[in-house]
Amino acid sequence: MNARTSPYRGRFAPSPSGPLHDGSLLAAMASFLDARAHGGQWLLRIEDIDTPRVVSGADAVIMQQLQALGMHWDEAPVWQSQRLSLYEQAFERLRQSGRIYGCACTRRMLTGGPYPGTCRDGLPMGQVARAWRLRVPEGEASAEHFVDRWMGEQCQNVEKEVGDFILRRADGLWAYQFVVVVDDGLQGITDIVRGADLLDSTARQRVLARMLGFPPPRVMHVPLLYDAEGRKLSKQNHAPALDLDRPLETLSRAWQALGFPGFAADSIETFWARALPAWAARHCGQ
Ligand code: GLU
Repeated sequence: MNARTSPYRGRFAPSPSGPLHDGSLLAAMASFLDARAHGGQWLLRIEDIDTPRVVSGADAVIMQQLQALGMHWDEAPVWQSQRLSLYEQAFERLRQSGRIYGCACTRRMLTGGPYPGTCRDGLPMGQVARAWRLRVPEGEASAEHFVDRWMGEQCQNVEKEVGDFILRRADGLWAYQFVVVVDDGLQGITDIVRGADLLDSTARQRVLARMLGFPPPRVMHVPLLYDAEGRKLSKQNHAPALDLDRPLETLSRAWQALGFPGFAADSIETFWARALPAWAARHCGQ
Protein backbone atom coordinates (compact mmCIF):
# COMPACT_ATOMS: atom_id res chain seq x y z
CA MET A 1 0.00 0.00 0.00
CA ASN A 2 1.20 3.50 -0.50
CA ALA A 3 0.17 6.73 1.14
CA ARG A 4 -1.87 7.89 -1.82
CA THR A 5 -4.10 4.83 -2.19
CA SER A 6 -4.62 4.01 1.50
CA PRO A 7 -7.56 5.60 3.30
CA TYR A 8 -6.48 8.93 4.77
CA ARG A 9 -5.18 8.78 8.35
CA GLY A 10 -3.88 11.97 9.88
CA ARG A 11 -2.81 12.91 13.36
CA PHE A 12 -2.10 15.73 15.75
CA ALA A 13 0.88 14.99 17.96
CA PRO A 14 1.35 17.65 20.62
CA SER A 15 4.12 17.52 23.20
CA PRO A 16 2.46 18.05 26.59
CA SER A 17 4.87 20.74 27.72
CA GLY A 18 2.02 23.20 28.35
CA PRO A 19 -1.42 24.18 27.07
CA LEU A 20 -2.03 24.80 23.36
CA HIS A 21 -1.52 28.40 22.24
CA ASP A 22 -2.48 30.28 19.06
CA GLY A 23 0.57 28.85 17.24
CA SER A 24 -0.11 25.20 18.03
CA LEU A 25 -3.78 25.69 17.17
CA LEU A 26 -2.74 26.38 13.57
CA ALA A 27 -1.22 22.90 13.25
CA ALA A 28 -4.15 21.28 15.06
CA MET A 29 -6.72 23.08 12.92
CA ALA A 30 -4.97 22.37 9.63
CA SER A 31 -4.47 18.67 10.38
CA PHE A 32 -8.07 18.33 11.60
CA LEU A 33 -9.53 20.07 8.55
CA ASP A 34 -7.35 18.14 6.16
CA ALA A 35 -8.40 14.80 7.65
CA ARG A 36 -12.09 15.71 7.64
CA ALA A 37 -11.93 17.21 4.15
CA HIS A 38 -10.51 13.90 2.89
CA GLY A 39 -13.16 11.90 4.74
CA GLY A 40 -10.31 10.46 6.82
CA GLN A 41 -9.45 9.65 10.40
CA TRP A 42 -7.85 12.17 12.74
CA LEU A 43 -5.83 10.67 15.60
CA LEU A 44 -4.42 12.25 18.71
CA ARG A 45 -1.00 11.19 19.94
CA ILE A 46 0.51 12.68 23.07
CA GLU A 47 4.27 12.96 22.55
CA ASP A 48 5.34 12.71 26.16
CA ILE A 49 8.61 10.94 25.54
CA ASP A 50 10.77 14.02 25.87
CA THR A 51 10.45 13.55 29.61
CA PRO A 52 12.30 16.62 30.93
CA ARG A 53 9.87 18.96 29.14
CA VAL A 54 6.67 17.16 30.04
CA VAL A 55 4.40 19.10 32.37
CA SER A 56 2.13 16.89 34.39
CA GLY A 57 -1.53 17.46 33.55
CA ALA A 58 -0.81 19.30 30.28
CA ASP A 59 -2.13 16.35 28.26
CA ALA A 60 -5.54 16.63 29.92
CA VAL A 61 -5.58 20.39 29.33
CA ILE A 62 -4.75 19.93 25.64
CA MET A 63 -7.54 17.38 25.26
CA GLN A 64 -10.04 19.74 26.91
CA GLN A 65 -8.93 22.59 24.67
CA LEU A 66 -9.40 20.53 21.51
CA GLN A 67 -12.81 19.35 22.59
CA ALA A 68 -13.93 22.82 23.63
CA LEU A 69 -13.16 23.98 20.09
CA GLY A 70 -15.07 21.10 18.49
CA MET A 71 -12.01 19.15 17.38
CA HIS A 72 -12.90 15.56 18.21
CA TRP A 73 -10.46 12.78 17.48
CA ASP A 74 -11.18 9.28 16.20
CA GLU A 75 -9.85 6.20 18.02
CA ALA A 76 -8.41 6.24 21.52
CA PRO A 77 -5.52 8.69 21.98
CA VAL A 78 -2.09 7.15 22.51
CA TRP A 79 0.70 8.28 24.81
CA GLN A 80 4.25 7.65 23.68
CA SER A 81 5.27 6.84 27.24
CA GLN A 82 3.09 3.72 26.99
CA ARG A 83 4.68 2.50 23.78
CA LEU A 84 8.26 1.97 24.92
CA SER A 85 8.36 -1.72 23.96
CA LEU A 86 7.42 -0.82 20.37
CA TYR A 87 10.38 1.55 20.19
CA GLU A 88 12.67 -1.13 21.62
CA GLN A 89 11.53 -3.59 18.95
CA ALA A 90 12.03 -1.16 16.08
CA PHE A 91 15.43 -0.16 17.44
CA GLU A 92 16.45 -3.80 17.72
CA ARG A 93 15.50 -4.40 14.09
CA LEU A 94 17.75 -1.59 12.97
CA ARG A 95 20.52 -2.77 15.21
CA GLN A 96 20.37 -6.29 13.86
CA SER A 97 20.65 -4.99 10.33
CA GLY A 98 23.81 -3.09 11.29
CA ARG A 99 22.18 0.32 10.96
CA ILE A 100 23.06 1.65 14.40
CA TYR A 101 26.32 2.48 16.10
CA GLY A 102 27.41 3.90 19.43
CA CYS A 103 28.89 7.39 19.51
CA ALA A 104 31.15 8.85 22.19
CA CYS A 105 31.26 12.45 20.90
CA THR A 106 30.19 15.16 23.30
CA ARG A 107 28.19 18.14 22.15
CA ARG A 108 31.28 20.28 22.68
CA MET A 109 33.35 18.16 20.28
CA LEU A 110 30.87 18.79 17.47
CA THR A 111 30.76 22.11 15.67
CA GLY A 112 27.07 22.13 14.87
CA GLY A 113 27.38 21.15 11.19
CA PRO A 114 26.63 17.67 9.85
CA TYR A 115 27.93 14.87 12.08
CA PRO A 116 31.40 14.08 10.70
CA GLY A 117 31.11 10.32 11.31
CA THR A 118 33.84 10.23 13.95
CA CYS A 119 32.56 7.04 15.63
CA ARG A 120 31.17 5.36 12.49
CA ASP A 121 33.90 2.72 12.41
CA GLY A 122 33.98 2.08 16.15
CA LEU A 123 34.34 3.93 19.42
CA PRO A 124 37.74 5.48 20.13
CA MET A 125 39.76 3.31 22.56
CA GLY A 126 38.52 3.44 26.12
CA GLN A 127 35.47 5.58 25.32
CA VAL A 128 31.88 4.69 26.13
CA ALA A 129 28.83 5.38 23.99
CA ARG A 130 26.84 8.47 24.91
CA ALA A 131 24.29 8.00 22.16
CA TRP A 132 23.18 5.67 19.37
CA ARG A 133 23.27 7.00 15.84
CA LEU A 134 21.68 5.85 12.60
CA ARG A 135 24.08 5.01 9.80
CA VAL A 136 22.45 7.00 6.99
CA PRO A 137 22.76 5.72 3.43
CA GLU A 138 25.65 7.08 1.42
CA GLY A 139 25.56 9.32 -1.65
CA GLU A 140 22.41 9.59 -3.75
CA ALA A 141 20.64 7.03 -1.56
CA SER A 142 20.29 9.67 1.14
CA ALA A 143 19.00 12.41 -1.20
CA GLU A 144 15.35 12.93 -0.33
CA HIS A 145 13.09 14.68 -2.84
CA PHE A 146 9.50 15.24 -1.89
CA VAL A 147 6.65 17.66 -2.40
CA ASP A 148 5.35 19.46 0.64
CA ARG A 149 1.69 20.31 0.04
CA TRP A 150 2.18 23.81 1.46
CA MET A 151 5.82 24.64 0.82
CA GLY A 152 6.28 22.91 -2.55
CA GLU A 153 9.23 20.86 -3.77
CA GLN A 154 11.91 20.00 -1.25
CA CYS A 155 15.26 18.34 -1.49
CA GLN A 156 17.73 17.42 1.21
CA ASN A 157 20.73 15.12 1.15
CA VAL A 158 20.65 13.71 4.67
CA GLU A 159 24.19 12.37 4.54
CA LYS A 160 25.67 15.71 3.47
CA GLU A 161 23.39 18.11 5.34
CA VAL A 162 22.75 16.24 8.59
CA GLY A 163 24.94 13.15 8.78
CA ASP A 164 24.29 10.15 10.99
CA PHE A 165 21.72 11.33 13.51
CA ILE A 166 20.90 10.32 17.07
CA LEU A 167 18.08 7.85 17.73
CA ARG A 168 18.64 7.35 21.42
CA ARG A 169 20.78 8.65 24.21
CA ALA A 170 22.80 6.23 26.29
CA ASP A 171 20.62 7.05 29.31
CA GLY A 172 17.70 5.57 27.35
CA LEU A 173 15.95 8.76 26.24
CA TRP A 174 14.49 8.30 22.75
CA ALA A 175 14.98 10.97 20.11
CA TYR A 176 11.86 12.62 18.69
CA GLN A 177 13.02 11.74 15.14
CA PHE A 178 12.94 8.05 15.91
CA VAL A 179 9.73 7.63 17.89
CA VAL A 180 7.69 9.85 15.57
CA VAL A 181 8.58 7.60 12.62
CA VAL A 182 7.83 4.39 14.51
CA ASP A 183 4.48 5.77 15.64
CA ASP A 184 3.44 7.19 12.28
CA GLY A 185 4.38 3.88 10.67
CA LEU A 186 2.64 1.61 13.18
CA GLN A 187 -0.45 3.82 13.29
CA GLY A 188 -0.70 3.74 9.50
CA ILE A 189 -0.52 7.52 9.17
CA THR A 190 -0.81 8.52 5.51
CA ASP A 191 -0.69 12.30 5.95
CA ILE A 192 1.22 14.58 8.29
CA VAL A 193 0.11 18.18 8.70
CA ARG A 194 2.20 20.13 11.22
CA GLY A 195 4.16 23.32 11.83
CA ALA A 196 6.85 24.55 9.45
CA ASP A 197 9.56 24.21 12.11
CA LEU A 198 9.49 20.47 11.40
CA LEU A 199 9.99 20.73 7.64
CA ASP A 200 13.70 20.26 8.13
CA SER A 201 13.11 16.96 9.98
CA THR A 202 11.13 15.43 7.14
CA ALA A 203 14.02 14.10 5.05
CA ARG A 204 15.51 12.34 8.09
CA GLN A 205 12.12 10.85 8.89
CA ARG A 206 11.70 9.60 5.33
CA VAL A 207 15.09 7.86 5.45
CA LEU A 208 14.18 6.20 8.73
CA ALA A 209 10.67 5.22 7.60
CA ARG A 210 12.03 3.44 4.56
CA MET A 211 14.61 1.57 6.64
CA LEU A 212 11.83 0.39 8.93
CA GLY A 213 9.68 -0.66 5.97
CA PHE A 214 7.01 2.07 6.28
CA PRO A 215 5.80 4.18 3.34
CA PRO A 216 6.74 7.81 4.12
CA PRO A 217 3.53 9.82 4.67
CA ARG A 218 2.64 12.82 2.51
CA VAL A 219 3.43 16.05 4.31
CA MET A 220 2.12 19.58 4.65
CA HIS A 221 3.94 22.13 6.82
CA VAL A 222 1.82 25.10 7.79
CA PRO A 223 3.10 28.55 8.80
CA LEU A 224 4.22 29.38 12.33
CA LEU A 225 3.05 32.36 14.30
CA TYR A 226 5.50 34.92 15.69
CA ASP A 227 5.20 37.28 18.63
CA ALA A 228 5.80 41.06 18.52
CA GLU A 229 9.56 40.47 18.92
CA GLY A 230 9.62 38.10 15.96
CA ARG A 231 10.04 34.95 18.08
CA LYS A 232 8.12 31.79 17.21
CA LEU A 233 5.09 31.47 19.48
CA SER A 234 5.97 28.59 21.75
CA LYS A 235 5.50 27.27 25.23
CA GLN A 236 9.16 28.07 25.95
CA ASN A 237 8.50 31.69 25.02
CA HIS A 238 5.46 31.71 27.31
CA ALA A 239 2.82 32.11 24.63
CA PRO A 240 -0.56 32.50 26.36
CA ALA A 241 -2.94 29.52 26.37
CA LEU A 242 -5.83 29.54 23.89
CA ASP A 243 -8.64 31.90 24.83
CA LEU A 244 -11.57 29.54 25.30
CA ASP A 245 -13.85 32.28 26.66
CA ARG A 246 -14.11 33.52 23.08
CA PRO A 247 -13.82 30.25 21.10
CA LEU A 248 -15.12 31.66 17.82
CA GLU A 249 -12.57 34.46 17.85
CA THR A 250 -9.83 31.98 18.71
CA LEU A 251 -10.83 29.74 15.80
CA SER A 252 -11.20 32.67 13.45
CA ARG A 253 -7.73 34.02 14.26
CA ALA A 254 -6.15 30.66 13.43
CA TRP A 255 -8.25 30.34 10.28
CA GLN A 256 -7.13 33.73 9.01
CA ALA A 257 -3.52 32.99 9.94
CA LEU A 258 -3.84 29.99 7.60
CA GLY A 259 -4.50 32.48 4.83
CA PHE A 260 -8.29 32.31 4.55
CA PRO A 261 -10.67 35.28 4.61
CA GLY A 262 -12.67 35.54 7.83
CA PHE A 263 -16.39 34.80 7.91
CA ALA A 264 -19.16 35.13 10.43
CA ALA A 265 -20.16 32.04 12.40
CA ASP A 266 -22.58 31.97 15.31
CA SER A 267 -21.50 28.60 16.72
CA ILE A 268 -18.51 26.29 16.74
CA GLU A 269 -20.42 23.81 14.54
CA THR A 270 -21.16 26.52 11.99
CA PHE A 271 -17.52 27.54 11.99
CA TRP A 272 -16.36 24.02 11.03
CA ALA A 273 -19.22 23.54 8.56
CA ARG A 274 -18.09 26.65 6.68
CA ALA A 275 -14.35 26.10 7.04
CA LEU A 276 -14.38 22.53 5.70
CA PRO A 277 -15.46 23.19 2.10
CA ALA A 278 -13.14 26.20 1.90
CA TRP A 279 -10.20 24.07 3.04
CA ALA A 280 -11.18 21.26 0.64
CA ALA A 281 -11.42 23.66 -2.30
CA ARG A 282 -7.95 25.03 -1.67
CA HIS A 283 -5.99 22.03 -0.39
CA CYS A 284 -7.57 18.78 -1.50
CA GLY A 285 -7.18 17.06 -4.82
CA GLN A 286 -3.46 17.85 -4.98
N1 GLU B 1 5.42 16.69 19.17
C1 GLU B 1 5.87 17.63 18.17
C2 GLU B 1 5.58 19.04 18.63
O1 GLU B 1 4.71 19.24 19.45
C3 GLU B 1 5.18 17.45 16.84
C4 GLU B 1 5.60 16.24 16.15
C5 GLU B 1 5.06 16.07 14.75
O2 GLU B 1 3.97 16.58 14.42
O3 GLU B 1 5.74 15.38 13.99
O4 GLU B 1 6.25 19.93 18.16
